[in-house]
Formats: sequence, structure tokens, C-alpha cells
Amino acid sequence: MTDTQFQYIDGEWRDGDGDDDLVVRDPAAPDDPIVSFTGASRSQATAAVRAADAASETWAAASPEEREAVLYAVADRIDDHHEALAETLTREEGKPISSSRAEVGRAAELFRFFASFARTAAGETLPSSDPETVTYTVREPLGVVALVTPWNFPIATPTWKLAAAVATGNSVVLKPSSETPMIARALVEHLEAAGLPEGVVNLVVGSGSTVGDAILTDDRIDGVSFTGSTDVGRHIAATVAERGLPVQTEMGGKNPQVVLPDADIEAAADAAAAGAFGLTGQACTATSRLIVHEDIAEELTDAVVARAEDIEVGPGMEDPDMGPAVSAEQDDTNFRYVEVAEAEGATRLTGGGRPDGRADDPGYFIEPTVFGGVESGMRIAQEEVFGPVLSILVVSDFEEALAVANDVEYGLSASLFTSDMASARRFTEAIEAGVVKINGTTTGSQIQMPFGGMKASSSETQKELGHRAYEFYTHRKAVYRTDP
Ligand code: NAD
Repeated sequence: MTDTQFQYIDGEWRDGDGDDDLVVRDPAAPDDPIVSFTGASRSQATAAVRAADAASETWAAASPEEREAVLYAVADRIDDHHEALAETLTREEGKPISSSRAEVGRAAELFRFFASFARTAAGETLPSSDPETVTYTVREPLGVVALVTPWNFPIATPTWKLAAAVATGNSVVLKPSSETPMIARALVEHLEAAGLPEGVVNLVVGSGSTVGDAILTDDRIDGVSFTGSTDVGRHIAATVAERGLPVQTEMGGKNPQVVLPDADIEAAADAAAAGAFGLTGQACTATSRLIVHEDIAEELTDAVVARAEDIEVGPGMEDPDMGPAVSAEQDDTNFRYVEVAEAEGATRLTGGGRPDGRADDPGYFIEPTVFGGVESGMRIAQEEVFGPVLSILVVSDFEEALAVANDVEYGLSASLFTSDMASARRFTEAIEAGVVKINGTTTGSQIQMPFGGMKASSSETQKELGHRAYEFYTHRKAVYRTDP
């Protein structure tokens, strides 16, 4: 494999031969490209699907021990190359190196967790109404699955799809974001080195509209798992819907943290700052709306603004509190939403500019930004920014807080800070979100817990993560066997 080879098709590393010239940049120093390469063509994407299809029968027939062993070996390799992988991730995505280390560590954990699916993704035997007939279900792999992933958790997200798919006997075509191809390539290199048979995992890097479309319209694809923006997810779901394929789309968010007067205000402020700014706001579960009771609005606002102003922003390799935005496009989006919010009449309480001393820095840096005086109908309260921009909305009671929290098209993650059990219970029941936290940040999840949104955040086909994530990647057949 050379520096420009990002396509891994049927066990071979290749240069792309498509029309897209792609450049990988360090978001902290984008003027100095890390590598330039050619994206895959449609015919390479098709070749990747063909290779996955050709490998699928043998891999489906591989023993649970064989599938499990490969995934454990990948986990060990990730541990052995932990620091190099973390640096690759930070160089192209920009997040603080300690966050990359945590994400790489999580990838190894995910491989170990999903390796167990090889042995445990089981059917069940059910009581039969007919004593002559045995009734049971079996799980079988879908076949070839397409995995389309974003840049913000560029090793964890491909891993939690791929490991679950491969453990359950599927072969895979992975199309990662073109913003973060180096970490995707490194991941696939470790799969190859761990002994995964040729064709079981294929990697194609190129524009979504070219290679994504070639993969998704190929008849040999048996299922699609997508994580990314709501617009693209809906387009993908519509593209494959007419063929009736299983499709899982996990998409955008506009996640609320509600704070009631009986809450621990310091803990709520810590959580809001961590949730809004921790990963430069580039988490689908990032806190973007702080919905606060009027009795504590001033105190909490001051506490959050103080924390925002304390955050050190800088290049990810220097391990600051907050790194740059991932790309020029995301950088533009962040500053555009600062203008949108001000034009709508929101009050900029802090941030919204380049950090001190970085006015002429080419890096995509922005100060942690907090807006007050936000009303629920404003665009800044409705649309996903995917940057470190927090809106504070003041309400006069809990029911209003709930109504405001639910007053968006999204429904991914939501949090409530309170010391009252009845409020916690009411919130858990009434909030329209796939992930609910009581006295915790909207961000963060445990891998044994199912993960996914509601409303415009998810197709709600089947949750990712958790001990039943194999369900998406398997058919379930109901068998009635009457012995002759
Ligand atoms: P994106 O939707 O722009 O891209 C996601 C992937 O889809 C990329 O690989 C992209 O190349 C591909 N793609 C784009 N157009 C395509 C097309 N027409 N056909 C096939 N593939 C296509 O998202 P992004 O900018 O990479 O990531 C940010 C978004 O992801 C945010 O909206 C965020 O909320 C969301 N996200 C959601 C979750 C979740 O679990 N719900 C997790 C992380 C990120």
C-alpha cells in the first residue's frame, strides 16, 4: 500500500480511478495538506460490492470460533498500535489527542464486545402447539452490507457497524467520510493483518454522490447501515426503500439539557459545557439547547458562560480542551449560525469569534459560543449546527421545559438535571429522545446499551450498539420441523 492507495477491494490496495481529487488536511493547519489522492470510481465501488458478494457465502459458513478469533486479533492490534492510531485520528479530524486515545481504546473494546456475537447471535426454541413439530428460529447473515459513515467518530462508528456485521457472518463494503479516510484505511489494514479473508471487508473512499450511489443502487447489496446527516440519511433510505432492503439510518440531533431549580447547578453547568463544547460540538449527541427554569436562569447562565470562557482552544495534538472544526465547510457553518442567531435577535453572551491570538490562523478555530434570549422558534434553536454553539432558552415551569425540549424535528439525546424523582420519571416518559439521561451529559454512551434516536434522528429500524445490535445484521427465520 502506498500513501495514495485508499481503496481496498478484494484484498488488494489500489489507487482510486474516479473523477474526485481528494485532499486530507489537518484542521489545525489546513494550508499544508497531509495527502492528496484520487477517489474511487463507480466501477471500483461496483467491484467492491462484487468482491463482498463473492466472499459472503464462505464467510457466512465460517465457524463462530473463526469469526470471533479475527475480531479479537483486530482488538489486540488496535491496542498494540494505539498511539499511532490516535495520532492519525487527531491529524485529520482535529479532536484533542486525549479524545482520540479514548476513541481508539473504545474501538478495541467494541471489537471485543461484538466478537461475542459470533457465538451468541442465536435463535430460540419456542413451545410448539403440535407435539410432533419442533418450532424454533434461526439467525442468518443478511449477506452484503453497505456501511456509510461520518467523520466525527471516524474509528468508533465504522467499528460498531463493521464488527457487528462481520461477527454475524456478513461481508461489508465500507464507505467512510472523505474527511477522515486515513483512520478508515488504518482500521481496514488491521483487519487485513488480523487475517480477515479477502473480500469480507472492502473499503471505498470517494464522494457520497458517486461511490455512495454506485454501492447503494447495486442489486447485490442486502442491507445498509448509515450514520450522518438527516438529509443524506433520508436520501439513502429512499434510494434503497424501493428494493425493500433493511436500512438503518442514525442522523442529526438538536439535543436539550433541561435544568430545574432543584438541580445541582454546578453539576448542570459542568455537564452543559462538556456536552456543548467537549468535541467542538461535533457529536450527534452534543448539547445544543440549555432549557433552564427562570428561577435559576441567571445563576446557571453565568456558570456556563464562565466555563465556556475558561476553555482552551487549540490544535488537537497539543491536547487542548477543544480542537478546531473539522473542515472549511463546518467552519463556515459555525460562523454562519453565529450571524443567523444574532440576526434573529438572540444575544451573544460569549464567543462567536476566532479565539484570541488566532485571528490570522488558518486553522478552523472558533471560541465556545453561548447565546441567551433564544426562543424555540428561532433557527438557532431548531437547526443542527454541529459546532460549539449553545443556545439558552428560559422557561417558567417544567411542563413548558418539556414542550420546548420536544419542539424540534430531532429526537436523539436529552438530559434533565433535577433532584426530584417524580420529575425524573415524568421526563423519562414524556421526552421524545432515543437516549435519556438524568443528571448526566447528553453526550456519551455505554457500548452495552442500545443507541439510536427517534423522530428525524433515526429510522428507528433497529438500535445500534447493545447486546442485540446483531438483530439488524441478521434475518430471523421461523422453522417448523416435523420429523417424518
Ligand atoms: P453526511 O451526511 O454529510 O455524510 C455521512 C456519510 O454519507 C459520508 O460518508 C458521506 O460521504 C456519505 N454521503 C453523502 N452523500 C451521500 C449520498 N448521496 N449517497 C451515499 N452516501 C453519501 O454527514 P457528516 O457531515 O459526515 O457527519 C455529520 C452528521 O452526522 C451530523 O448531522 C451528525 O448529527 C450526524 N451524526 C449522527 C450520529 C448518530 O448516531 N445519530 C453520529 C454521528 C454523526
